[in-house]
This record gives sequence, structure tokens and C-alpha cells, in this order.
Amino acid sequence: MSENGDRIAPGKGLLDGLAVTFKTMTRRSTTQQYPDVEPDLPPRSRGVIALLEENCTVCMLCARECPDWCIYIDSHKEEVVVPGAARARQRNVLDKFDIDFSLCMYCGICIEVCPFDALHWTPEFEYAETDVLSLLHDKDRLGDWMRTVPPPPAHDVLGEPSKEEATAARKAAGPGAATAAKTARPAGVRATPPTSDPGSPSAPPASAKEPER
Ligand code: SF4
Ligand code: SF4
Repeated sequence: MSENGDRIAPGKGLLDGLAVTFKTMTRRSTTQQYPDVEPDLPPRSRGVIALLEENCTVCMLCARECPDWCIYIDSHKEEVVVPGAARARQRNVLDKFDIDFSLCMYCGICIEVCPFDALHWTPEFEYAETDVLSLLHDKDRLGDWMRTVPPPPAHDVLGEPSKEEATAARKAAGPGAATAAKTARPAGVRATPPTSDPGSPSAPPASAKEPER
């Protein structure tokens, strides 16, 4: 009997099962032959996290935002003498930066929140260990993963220039020069010639003026 009370012909279940078997037998297999054949992963796969130590300012944002509390950072302050400056400056020096991949859930929050692009995903995934404690990667090991970080995608040639490029172009053009960033107007917005004549058709309506006090 079926769920809605209809009679099922004897042997139908067996035939359905055999149909599925034959369909699967004739379909092309998609089994991946790993480890004999490397899987073809998308370049932005989340394999492991790499650290670019030079970019890290020890701001602690990543460690604070990590939902698993699996980033451990230690640092000390160092005085830097700047020639010509009245006082020596202080900077943070990174002593320890560990990520425990036995706790990490690969959410990517630490990479998203890092303001200095010090953390990067790499598609490398072959770092399984027989001892769970070995999944704690220190800053040297995290730094070593940097060689497997894929290069960033090429710039969109039709996209807007970055803030840095626009600033460099403005500086190169000299003071007072009109650059594309200064003269750009959103599409659909028409330029209104400035006028002081209240009777002019392009003058703003009286209701749009500042109310008199
Ligand atoms: S990917 Fe997520 S869980 Fe893993 S270290 Fe970063 S913030 Fe923590
Ligand atoms: S958020 Fe970035 S710069 Fe700040 S401590 Fe983490 S890795 Fe370093």
C-alpha cells in the first residue's frame, strides 16, 4: 500500500531499485582519484590561512572577532628613533601569532576584518596531522603558507580607479587641475548653470529656498 492508500503492484519497488542501479551504472563516474590525482580546486578555496607578518600591526581585531577564539597573539612595544623627530616613536612587534586549526571553523571572519591585508586564504589543504596538537600553526608556519596564496584577480579595466590611483593622478596633474574624480557626475544628473536671477527658468522654485526667519 502506498501512503495515500493506493495498491502498489508487486515487484514495483524492486524494479524501481534496479532502474536506479542501471541509471547509475551507465552514468559517467565523478570519483576523484585523490591522492593519486590532485583535485582541481577553485583558486579561492578555503584551505588554510596564511599570515603576511610585515602587514600585521598587532591591532588584535582578528583575535577579538574570531568566534572560536582560536587566534593567539602576543607582542611587545619597541621604540623607534626617527631622525628629526622630537621624540622616539613606539611600535608593536609581533612575538606570537598562532592559529589553532583544530578549532577553526573556516568562517573567514579574521581575514575579512583585518584592516591591513595581513591574513589571506590559500587553497592548500594537505596539512592533516596524526596529533591534534600539531594543528596549531605558529607565525613561521602561517608565514610559510604565503607562497601558496594565489595572486589577486586583475583590475577591471572599466572599473573606477582606486582611491590611491586617483590621488596619484591628481598629484601628477598639479594643483587646481580638474581630474575625472572631481568632475564626475552620477548618470542622469543634469548640470544646472548657476544663476542669481529669480525670474530665470533655471532658478530654484521659491518653495526650495531657505525659509525666512
Ligand atoms: S576562519 Fe573563523 S574560526 Fe578560523 S581563525 Fe579565522 S575567524 Fe577564527
Ligand atoms: S587584524 Fe590583521 S593587523 Fe590586526 S592583529 Fe590580526 S592579522 Fe594583525
